[in-house]
Amino acid sequence: MSTQALLEFPSHNPATGEVLTSYPNANQADVDAAVARAHASKQAWQALGFKGRKKVLDKWTSLISERMGELADLVALETGKPHSDAALEISLAIGHLAWAAKHAEKYLAPVNRNPGLLMANMKARVERAPYGVVGVIGPWNYPVFTPMGSIAYSLAAGNTIVFKPSEYTPGVGVWLGATFAEVAPFPDIFHVVTGLSTTGVALTQSAVDKIAFTGSTRTAKKVAATAAERMIPVVLECGGKDPVIIDRDANVKKAAEYALWMAMSNAGQTCIGAERVYVHTAVADEFIREIGAMARELHPGVNKSYGPATMPSQLNVIQSHIDDAAAKGAKFLVGGTDSVHAPFVEPTIMLDVPEDSTAITEETFGPTLTINRVADMEEAVRLSNATRYGLGASVWSKRNGEKIASQLIAGMVSINSVIGFAGIATVPFGGVKDSGYGRIHGPEGLHEFTYLRSVVSERFAIPIAFTTFKRTKFADRMITGLTRLLHK
Ligand code: NAD
Repeated sequence: MSTQALLEFPSHNPATGEVLTSYPNANQADVDAAVARAHASKQAWQALGFKGRKKVLDKWTSLISERMGELADLVALETGKPHSDAALEISLAIGHLAWAAKHAEKYLAPVNRNPGLLMANMKARVERAPYGVVGVIGPWNYPVFTPMGSIAYSLAAGNTIVFKPSEYTPGVGVWLGATFAEVAPFPDIFHVVTGLSTTGVALTQSAVDKIAFTGSTRTAKKVAATAAERMIPVVLECGGKDPVIIDRDANVKKAAEYALWMAMSNAGQTCIGAERVYVHTAVADEFIREIGAMARELHPGVNKSYGPATMPSQLNVIQSHIDDAAAKGAKFLVGGTDSVHAPFVEPTIMLDVPEDSTAITEETFGPTLTINRVADMEEAVRLSNATRYGLGASVWSKRNGEKIASQLIAGMVSINSVIGFAGIATVPFGGVKDSGYGRIHGPEGLHEFTYLRSVVSERFAIPIAFTTFKRTKFADRMITGLTRLLHK
């Protein structure tokens, strides 16, 4: 039976394989109906204005904060991540929701522009108008934080939404929809449709005005291709192969501690997680000793250091990357080719990994890390940039952090810290190359969910009219003369 024909699908606890609940597998007709309802409610949502929408979003922020423990239970159950990690993720998402609600008016308000001397009798303004209905498609690894980057900013900008959560975390999506309904002044502002990948396809083929997609690069390309047929814009937040660069003057102990967390937390299932380390030879032994000792203290399990692979098929990818590196001559500092014990993966750190290994070239999305020594920071930058991805990066150096950061082809860089940009609501989040395009978060994240409308109007009539068939010879001479005067 095709997945489109299935009426329901089950969600699982990935740590035990236990079936939790079944959810509707929305088909094209279901999705089209949800999108039609979102279109019907968009004018009323826009009519509330920034202040009216802020009131609703503030109420939602408070409700999520109040029931955070309940949501964290659900996130932990569906993803397998430790409860405290789920709570951290939700806290960051709440921060973004509150920021978007508070700042939408400031960053989206109309701006007057100078009409120029030739058009001095006109006034000119640029408005930012919401698209209408935004289709949001989410992944499972941070099922609250990642879609909220699109949902919060898009709602604050005045769009209504149809959200398709990952098939691995449908309950989290339904919870978000249900709590929004509790504070909503009327229905269909934020609508959740559950389903398998076919539901995602249906959403891209529906009458939405924009797609905000977070997930793998492979799927993003399909989403972009479908959107291109309808000429609708997309924002694509995809995978990464983020490097950690450690210079000889770095605080090596701290770099090791933070790089380890960036690589292993959430079982390595973080788009902006550390996958590769390039460390200066002068401090490499110290770094390797430090990170190795700390990594041996980590243990996967339920509510342990980190949980299982949420998506069982990822275990094959992780195993194949480890095997490929081993076959090409990599050494193991921690773990080995036997690290994968489904559904968990032991921490695995590989040394001297050939640059053509899949552990270096492809997103592994597991608790693994490669460490390669470099002679200088030029080599570190060159190798860091030699990837098809360009999402985030972390740089460790007391003196050269800014210089190294400025040479990286990446959407986000954290200096002497890791992934700090994700929690700072004022900075945009997103990547380049195969990591996607467009931005969520910050003023740019609000801009992403609006289109520009230039509005000009006549302030006073002038005797010389240009935009008419009645234009005189005198007017023509005036235009030529003025242009020469202004631009000689
Ligand atoms: P995925 O691409 O398999 O699925 C993402 C979503 O797309 C799911 O809801 C899925 O049902 C849907 N989908 C699948 N096929 C579709 C299609 N043809 N058309 C429309 N929708 C479709 O990704 P995933 O496994 O859920 O997530 C993991 C990936 O997400 C990793 O690559 C990770 O790096 C990336 N990610 C990126 C960010 C970021 O902000 N850059 C954040 C989190 C995760």
